Amino acid sequence: MTFPATPRFDVVVVGGGIVGLATAHAVARTGRSVAVLEREPRLATHQTGNNSNVIHSGLYYAPGGLKARLAVAGCAETVAFCREHDLPHQVTGKLVVATEPEELPRMAELARRGAANGVEAHELDQAEMRRHEPHVRGIAALYVPSTGICDYRAVAEKLGELVAKEGGEIQLGRSVLRLVRRREDVVVRTDGTDLLAKQVVVCAGLRGDELAKASGADPGVRIIPFRGEYAGFSARAAELVKGLIYPVPDPAFPFLGVHATRGIDGHVHAGPNAVLALAREGYSWGTIKPKELAQSLAYPGMMRLARKHWRYGLGEVHRSLSKKAMVQQIQRMLPDVQAEDLTPSGAGVRAQAVKPDGSLVDDFLFVAQGGADGERGAGSVLYVLNAPSPAATAAMPIGREILERLTGERIAPLNAA
Ligand SMILES: Cc1cc2nc3c(=O)[nH]c(=O)nc-3n(C[C@H](O)[C@H](O)[C@H](O)COP(=O)(O)OP(=O)(O)OC[C@H]3O[C@@H](n4cnc5c(N)ncnc54)[C@H](O)[C@@H]3O)c2cc1C
Repeated sequence: MTFPATPRFDVVVVGGGIVGLATAHAVARTGRSVAVLEREPRLATHQTGNNSNVIHSGLYYAPGGLKARLAVAGCAETVAFCREHDLPHQVTGKLVVATEPEELPRMAELARRGAANGVEAHELDQAEMRRHEPHVRGIAALYVPSTGICDYRAVAEKLGELVAKEGGEIQLGRSVLRLVRRREDVVVRTDGTDLLAKQVVVCAGLRGDELAKASGADPGVRIIPFRGEYAGFSARAAELVKGLIYPVPDPAFPFLGVHATRGIDGHVHAGPNAVLALAREGYSWGTIKPKELAQSLAYPGMMRLARKHWRYGLGEVHRSLSKKAMVQQIQRMLPDVQAEDLTPSGAGVRAQAVKPDGSLVDDFLFVAQGGADGERGAGSVLYVLNAPSPAATAAMPIGREILERLTGERIAPLNAA
């Protein structure tokens, strides 16, 4: 097969979300040439630009896993990055509130996980909890001081600026159609000029599995889009929330439960819930792509997931469609919030990998397709197939991890002394 003459890069990154940009930045820091190809006209249009903007501490994640290691590192690094580049952020701390006695053992387990991951967390009784958040109802809480808030779109845009400053190229409005691996390189077929790369990293979020398939790779999982909807608080209800208030999560799901967050702009919102999106970029019930929906529903893993968790799924749909149900959920922690205090306030769509057996992939998932000289050699492609929350927090350590997997080269964190 022949291809037209193309520009050549050491690494091409597909996807201009925070993971792709942090990866490109890590690559550029080593002096390698890099290009980022983003199909939208703007960086950070999808998960990165529509998330809760929380800098997670690393409390929740299974000790020893990638999420635990990379989120703890990323928490400190994101704060340091925002400070260095004068980006809005605040280390607010957060409360995880137990509202029922049966949640206490799960809360204690979270504290144990936190300790194993090196995350400071303090168990509070009701009176101590109320000193942090006077309007919260609960029987006990965990206080995690290192959690914070920022603006991930601004972080991603700054990373893009730094990539360009280091000589990297960012092409917006450029969709990658498929990748063709050859002995010495990879041809990146786009809707415009093709590119040649020694190696490619796919950080395509909601479309990572689709690009793997189009390129003849078996992703082994399907990305199922789960929408998370937000409800904005009225000025009156916003007075009831000082910082970040989370429920104790259900360990059966990788979602953290509907929480109240005061953002860096001072606005308070509740969310996100988790409902099946009816298109990969299905930001509302009205956005339906029958082909994509049919593909999600026909996937054996999706059927098994639905069979196992239909009750939870229906509950989430009910809370999405009924304001009364949504407010009841918030009232478990914040009883003074009323239905008239809530207005719909946008949504994000999570790219969640689901295995054929119906289980949700819990940890970050990177799948490499080796070149002639193996996974670190020319002609190799690395697919990021599961990078949901807390991948925005962990993006910079993820970028360094990917660089090491691609090239064997290790670089220091940006916040290293
Ligand atoms: C509702 C919600 C709340 C969240 N809250 C938090 C939080 O508070 N804290 C936290 O740490 N994490 C949070 N997350 C998770 C976090 O947002 C994601 O983990 C992170 O943004 C993933 O970044 P990404 O670069 O992998 O994906 P994305 O930001 O989705 O970027 C992927 C990019 O690839 C592009 N693309 C796709 N296909 C192609 C193609 N063929 N060619 C070219 N470009 C392509 C897309 O247009 C997109 O811009 C949340 C996520 C959601 C949805």
